[in-house]
Amino acid sequence: MRWLLLLLMAMLSMTATAQDRPVSPTALVIHGGAGVIERADLGADDERAIRAALDAALDAGQAVLARGGSALDAVEAAVVALEESPRFNAGKGAVYNAEGGHELDASVMEGHTRRAGAVAGVTTVRNPIRLARAVMEHSPHVMLIGEGAEAFADAQPGIERVPNDWFDTETRHEQLKKAQQRERDQAQAATDLKGKYFGTVGAVALDAQGHIATATSTGGMTNKKWGRVGDSPIVGAGTWADDRCGVSGTGWGEFFIRNAVAHDICARVAYRGDTLQAAADEVIMKVVPELGGDGGAIALDRDGNIAMPFNTSGMYRGWVKPDGSRGTAIFRED
Ligand code: ASP
Repeated sequence: MRWLLLLLMAMLSMTATAQDRPVSPTALVIHGGAGVIERADLGADDERAIRAALDAALDAGQAVLARGGSALDAVEAAVVALEESPRFNAGKGAVYNAEGGHELDASVMEGHTRRAGAVAGVTTVRNPIRLARAVMEHSPHVMLIGEGAEAFADAQPGIERVPNDWFDTETRHEQLKKAQQRERDQAQAATDLKGKYFGTVGAVALDAQGHIATATSTGGMTNKKWGRVGDSPIVGAGTWADDRCGVSGTGWGEFFIRNAVAHDICARVAYRGDTLQAAADEVIMKVVPELGGDGGAIALDRDGNIAMPFNTSGMYRGWVKPDGSRGTAIFRED
């Protein structure tokens, strides 16, 4: 009888330890956009600054994961860091629309609960990813747009509003002027947007509880008109997370929407048993270009596998693997 009691106590204490202990190692992957990024056009100082900004975002997300925080907090922290950097097309540094202003989109998704939140076309929210999360957590909705989203923002603690010109940067203004010049020169330029963008940001994290979350934030595409919204705030297109897989996309958004890219990658893992790498490669290297689109994606599964395919010349990216190894890369051969 006594041995039975002892055995029971030992089993109970093992269960308690197993619950306290992380059931899975953590991992984090981020992107700062895919597109035409040529080594010859990127000076050494710019490259250093971009890698430092990617590293700062990895630090922000990794700090959350290391203290046992949630994947959701980690992706928010990483994306806020990228939104705050003028180097990327999200938050400060967002591209200009055709009217010379900025309209920002963002979305977030938590895998194991399938909760999601998104905002599109906001013009005065400093960190759109924070507002997307507030939509998820404090409204009965998934997506809010424009002025309505901003009215909702005013009722949320911790959502900072800024004047639209706060997002201005000289580099993005130059890009707008060039895009508009191209448009005047050749009508074709208005429809052929291949590679004419980069800098959307995203993050996918796996936390110590084995949960996955994804966040994506963007200024969209330079010279966009008519309230155009791309894939980034659309759940299933630019952002997806379920309990085994998370994806954040970057590229020519119309093609990511038409192929439900983020969901398709995870669906291939779930329904077909594809490896994460095979699923991500097939969608990004085959499905999207076959329709005429381009771009890249970051993906992470519950075993901590990471895939970062892109069919453009570069994609800003960074990762921390379950074994703690980390890195940043820009070009294909990095
Ligand atoms: N996917 C974004 C959009 O279409 C652009 C980007 O990734 O740079 O709005």
